[in-house]
Amino acid sequence: MIINAFDYNGVCSCGKNHVINTKAAIIEPGCLGRIDKYLSAYGIEGKYCALYGENSFRATEGCHPMAEQVIIMESEGLHANEISTAKVLSALEDDIEVILAVGSGTIHDIARFCAHERGIRFVSCPTAASVDGFCSTVAAMTWYGYKKTLPAVAPEIVIADIDIIKNAPRELTVSGIGDIMAKYTALADWRISHIVTGEYLCERIFSIMQEALHTAVGCIRGIENGEDCAYEAVTYALIMSGLAMQMMGNSRPASGTEHHFSHTIEMGPEKLKVSFPAMHGEKAGVGTIYALNEYKRLAAVEDITPYLRKYSPLDTDEITDFFGETLGKAILKENEDDCLAAVTPEDISNNWQAVRGVVAELPNGAEVASQLAALGGKSTAASIGVAEEDVPTILHYAPSVRNRLTLMRMKRMIQL
Ligand SMILES: [Zn+2]
Ligand SMILES: [Zn+2]
Repeated sequence: MIINAFDYNGVCSCGKNHVINTKAAIIEPGCLGRIDKYLSAYGIEGKYCALYGENSFRATEGCHPMAEQVIIMESEGLHANEISTAKVLSALEDDIEVILAVGSGTIHDIARFCAHERGIRFVSCPTAASVDGFCSTVAAMTWYGYKKTLPAVAPEIVIADIDIIKNAPRELTVSGIGDIMAKYTALADWRISHIVTGEYLCERIFSIMQEALHTAVGCIRGIENGEDCAYEAVTYALIMSGLAMQMMGNSRPASGTEHHFSHTIEMGPEKLKVSFPAMHGEKAGVGTIYALNEYKRLAAVEDITPYLRKYSPLDTDEITDFFGETLGKAILKENEDDCLAAVTPEDISNNWQAVRGVVAELPNGAEVASQLAALGGKSTAASIGVAEEDVPTILHYAPSVRNRLTLMRMKRMIQL
């Protein structure tokens, strides 16, 4: 399958001019071995540097792209941070014109950041269907200990070899499926905010995302049997999600309460005990399950009016107490211009039946949990390193990590 990403470029019926920098994604068995053909077909020529992790170098044995320079990063303790990027930037030969990232999300973030720093071209060769960030225009970095998204470049083309992706460790694919399941609540949050506040929503981007989600969910069972078409569908959904974010110019279509849940755990607030790290998609998947449970509970209320209260800003002491001094300061700054401030109790009550309608179309948390569990995926708080009894606390603080309107943020005005 080839996605011609340029088809999504240009003026849209929503009135915006959507800009996509990725030209195409090739999702086929064996396509990494034919990369030369695709590079020349899309006019990506020059001196190449292929960047691998140790694992991805081994996993692609026999189909390594021809490159003038090869850099292999040690997998142990590898993070997209100031250390790994400095290593690559100092090793990168002066006349390299194209970086080929062959590997995981981390290798991609390092490569896209370095390509941006050097002002050179970037090609993505994912070796696992583990996240939707392959087509991202920003790099998710840990910069001197802080999680940050830094300016980077989107890949010009994506070469997703299903022969390689299908042989990646199962938990990577299942993590990718968690990142896809996340779109249930991410899309619901976007739609609900659009209904309640009139926030911009592009129907085309919305339906691209919805279609990608349904395609992947419809194929999940095939992952168990190792069917090529199932791996293709999951990879397709993850790539489309990245392209939808490019069209939008931010992560709105792909990230809502469930991602805020995941980010809260990743940030490591002082008051939250996290026993062990989990993968991004695992946390997003589990976040989806708990967000769905909470949304179903809220939407079961027919008349919300008696429970509504006026907006009030975040409590500085409460935030500082939970997140700690440094993180608390950053959270309060993020919420300085709180998107909830413009919402009135009437906005919520007048639109409550439409909000309930959006939630009614969502699956139950238990349905998503059983789909993930059937694949051996993580589906409980304990399985991602946090205590079940901390879930209400995580959900309570989650909306404050990003200033984005979600139903969970609106819950600050709903006393239930
Ligand atoms: Zn549009
Ligand atoms: Zn994600």
